[in-house]
Amino acid sequence: MIIMRFSLSLFFCILIFSLSLPVFARQQEINSPDASAAQAAAAVGQPSGPVAVPEPSEKALRYHQSGIVLWLFGTFWGILIPALFLFTGLSARIRTLAQKIGRKWFFVIAIYLTIFTLILYVIDLPLAYYSGFVREHSYGLSNQSLGKWFSDSTIALAIEIVVNAIFLWLPYLLLRRSPKRWWFYTGLLAIPFLILATLIQPIWIDPLFNDFGPMKNKGLETKILALADRAGISGGRVYEVNKSADTKTLNAYVNGFGQTKRIVLWDTTIARMNENELLFVMGHEMGHYVLGHVWKLIGFLSALIMLTLFLIHRTAGWMINRFRDKFGFDSLSDIASYPLIILLFSGYLFIAQPIAMSFNRWIEHESDRFGLEITRNNRDAATAFVKLQEDNLSVPRPHWLDRMWRASHPTLGERIDFCNEYRPGKRASRSNTSIFSNRLIDK
Ligand SMILES: [Zn+2]
Repeated sequence: MIIMRFSLSLFFCILIFSLSLPVFARQQEINSPDASAAQAAAAVGQPSGPVAVPEPSEKALRYHQSGIVLWLFGTFWGILIPALFLFTGLSARIRTLAQKIGRKWFFVIAIYLTIFTLILYVIDLPLAYYSGFVREHSYGLSNQSLGKWFSDSTIALAIEIVVNAIFLWLPYLLLRRSPKRWWFYTGLLAIPFLILATLIQPIWIDPLFNDFGPMKNKGLETKILALADRAGISGGRVYEVNKSADTKTLNAYVNGFGQTKRIVLWDTTIARMNENELLFVMGHEMGHYVLGHVWKLIGFLSALIMLTLFLIHRTAGWMINRFRDKFGFDSLSDIASYPLIILLFSGYLFIAQPIAMSFNRWIEHESDRFGLEITRNNRDAATAFVKLQEDNLSVPRPHWLDRMWRASHPTLGERIDFCNEYRPGKRASRSNTSIFSNRLIDK
């Protein structure tokens, strides 16, 4: 719910990107070493042939269905709460209070945002506690202690307050100085902000929540580094994180930018998968790295933010004219308008969600292909996805509407099918894969 709340907030939409690059870049397992290893496996009697997509367990179906209900409720909640701040006049009252305390324009903005964020945190707390702690435990997906959950939640709140105070005065300054073009300048400013957020996340944000270090299994690390070398990624960019403190689910991700760019493997994944499966997972992540997906996501998100800000610009005035008596403000440049911006932002992002998800699924699919090309072991890739499905209580073939709005990755059914069908090396030079295929050929 904290993440959900981030998504409501103008600039936190940006942070959600950086925070959720992991989310975007996640769930890539499947591994396959190379053809000779596959032949060796076959020679010693290990199974070969296509890997079946398992039927979801009854528990997975329940988790999935209740997850949809929770998502729908969270979406509704994300519109309802900012609306309440507006229509009850609460937002205007917080602004008046902030003016009394802060006096100077900049401090009024910072104080308003801090009070608003704190109230929102308290309102969201029960739902956040249920969805992030109670529910995960009741399905056996978490062994996180209540203390760790609460400390993570408080740290996220502190980050949100600090980031709001540092950055959110900028769009309000632009709203005052350039009421007609503020959306354009704010959209432009979002680009360096996104880059900055992506750059500092792995070194300043992530370590506040978990411990990151080199791989503990040195034999595995050597193989991963050899794979990274073949993918053209310099050493020292692979990290292990102690996610077992938080969850029993599996994952890996790429994040960072420039010098901070890295691949992170959850220790839960290391414990659950065999070496070949892990190598496929890493091959997938290396695909994100080599194929420039961080840049592509930043470009895509920048365009989405610009468009959304433009739509807010075109519609907020009408809302304010219509409801100014209830809202208690008559201009978008008044900080009391913040819940209105959040509300409109959430609404437009909800509409744009299928496009964003579809873009992300394409990126993920390209990384799956890369992983298969570099490891050449389709079967281990497929079994890695099977483990992902089982351990994360995923449903392999969700309803198309669910897929459209919520699937940031191809469904696990699609991914396992792809592993069964795809023939590495057959697609020599197509845009993305050519970067790597060339290297393979050179080798
Ligand atoms: Zn991925």
